[in-house]
Amino acid sequence: MPMPPSAIPVRLPPVAIVEPLLERVPALGLIGNTPLVRIASFEAEHPGVEVWAKCEFFNPGGSLKDRPVLRMLAEALADGRLSGGRTIIDSSSGNAGIAYALIGGALGHGVEIVIPDNASKERLKRLAAHGATITHTSAHDGYDEAIRHVRRLVAAAPERYFYCDQYSNPGNWRAHYDTTANEIWQQTEGRVTHFVFGVGTGGTLTGIGRRLRELNPALCIELLIPDAFPGVEGLKPLGSPGDHVPEILDMTLASRTWDVDEEEGWRMSQRLARAGLFAGQSSGVCVATALRVARDLANKGEPGVVVTVLNDIGERYFSTRLWDQ
Ligand code: PMP
Repeated sequence: MPMPPSAIPVRLPPVAIVEPLLERVPALGLIGNTPLVRIASFEAEHPGVEVWAKCEFFNPGGSLKDRPVLRMLAEALADGRLSGGRTIIDSSSGNAGIAYALIGGALGHGVEIVIPDNASKERLKRLAAHGATITHTSAHDGYDEAIRHVRRLVAAAPERYFYCDQYSNPGNWRAHYDTTANEIWQQTEGRVTHFVFGVGTGGTLTGIGRRLRELNPALCIELLIPDAFPGVEGLKPLGSPGDHVPEILDMTLASRTWDVDEEEGWRMSQRLARAGLFAGQSSGVCVATALRVARDLANKGEPGVVVTVLNDIGERYFSTRLWDQ
């Protein structure tokens, strides 16, 4: 008899550095401690191998970026970088921007987000709902141009801004190291064998990868790389010369890489929606790759516990063609 599918809650205490923020704004205590759900619907395709997904769309900002943003802002408040009336500024594919807007706004700071104009309308409306100022850069020039644009704005008025710089800020990966990874470890009772993810800023891959590897040195980290930009919202291609490689990304963690295309993500998000999980396109790409890893193990007759992430909520894509079919 196969094990019944499960959704496992978790409750780990907050990391000490974020505690003062949770005291000021108790709603921020809703960040993290997300459930882990077994994706049992497709198990006939990979008998003997379990696939689980961390439900980051349960966070109040609707994505995996609430955790790193809470941590980066907590560190900046603690050491004085976010002092006085400084405006929080960063580039974002949208989800980090929403987290900055939600958390920074609730803490009483101005928030300015530079975003490529391929970002979905839902992201832009959500940013506006939390009171953030939005500056657009060309989708054609990718996330890298958004990064360059922030740097120009900050260089012109350094005293005005706190540039959080999620691509280089170690608080980004530390948040996942201290929280998401330990939650996954607890929720799988230490049984996780494979972690599947891609790279936006590299925070999730580096933080979860580092911690799970410490806990289980034999853990395989399966890195997925989209073939083009803006193929999968939230994930970067890394293959071409000139692609910005985030400073915090630790590529040495990757055991194997998988090329993925945008269509594979669309199709899997649609399959997931019909299986009761309503998440965005990058989540589809993550689960599609997790199934490839699971099928590979099943073909070799090896057991495994493959974990990936449902990164953001499906509603965020109503204005895109994700749900058109
Ligand atoms: N998926 C989505 C939808 C995202 O918004 C992001 C963040 N850019 C990622 C995946 C990748 O996460 P990270 O920045 O930690 O690499």
